[in-house]
Amino acid sequence: MNSNHINTYPQTCNLKAMKSKILLSLMALLGLFIFNPVQAQGNLTPEKIKAALDEAYTKFKDVKDGKNADYIKELANVDPNIFGIALVTTDGTVYTKGDVSSMVSIQSVSKAFVAAQVIEQLGHQAMQDKIGVDATGLKFNSIVAIEEHRGKEINPLVNPGAIAATSLVAGKDSAAIWKSILDFQGKFAGRTLALNMPVYISEAGDNLRNQAIAHLLKAYGRMYFDPVQATDIYTKQCAINVSAKDLAVMGSTLANGGVNPVTKEKVVSPETVMYTLPIMATAGLYDDSGIWYYNSGLPAKSGVGGGIVAVCPGKFGIGVVSPPLDEAGNSVKAQLVIKYVVEKLGVNPFLIQPK
Ligand code: GLU
Repeated sequence: MNSNHINTYPQTCNLKAMKSKILLSLMALLGLFIFNPVQAQGNLTPEKIKAALDEAYTKFKDVKDGKNADYIKELANVDPNIFGIALVTTDGTVYTKGDVSSMVSIQSVSKAFVAAQVIEQLGHQAMQDKIGVDATGLKFNSIVAIEEHRGKEINPLVNPGAIAATSLVAGKDSAAIWKSILDFQGKFAGRTLALNMPVYISEAGDNLRNQAIAHLLKAYGRMYFDPVQATDIYTKQCAINVSAKDLAVMGSTLANGGVNPVTKEKVVSPETVMYTLPIMATAGLYDDSGIWYYNSGLPAKSGVGGGIVAVCPGKFGIGVVSPPLDEAGNSVKAQLVIKYVVEKLGVNPFLIQPK
């Protein structure tokens, strides 16, 4: 709303009309004050955001460290030079830099959003009781982690908890559960997402370890659907194609209390977000979850496809895609970019200026 808008009201000498005109002007001013999108982002301005993304892109585009994941054969064939950054603020403004349209498989990033789906459908207590919300301190696909606590004390962001979470999604059969997950991830992204068939086939032919995990959980009474089918749906869920922009919109939906700020659709409740983000904070980046949180202050989730989504609560979601990974399995460039942007914009939630 602006002054031009106010000036389009017809002129009249009538006192009543004058009064309502003054009232309208005051409301317009108030609206400008309260709903100004730039102000809603705190001290973030579009210029600052654009500059931070540009600088991060230029600074890190030539980094050659890391290597594509190859334990899923198809991932080794993905172009390692894909490099895209997207940031979506909670007022729905989309900022991009680099290649934000090339797709990679979402892989483990999907786990955070399936966790949100399960919390939304069954409640946060069910997540805590039926799966667990503790970082395991062990590898993401560790069988020891299951053995140690007889299938308890895991979380939905490592493979055992993620397959268990998939097995908890409501649906009458395997096809219905898969459709529900794909649709739900699509609502977070604000568009219809699709399966990367070669990646799915490549992993499905070689996922014996995940099948073993599902069966072991079943043996401990911690698998809530057929283990073979749950593993298959989980494998499909990991093979959903996303761009850096998709990841950013997904993250911004969490940053915005569960309402997609681009489509304005309510995907999950603010309470679901409140319980999802802490799991991302404690277990989002594999064995480096602690060091990540220490250095960025942002809940995040990475995937071996090369994507990372991070959430700055109340402010924005940021998605970065760059396939080469470090030893812990996290995209090298995505971590560098997000940490740089957080620092540059001064948005680490733990950076508190004393009054
Ligand atoms: N589908 C992959 C697996 O289960 C996901 C791994 C990941 O991104 O962490 O091994």
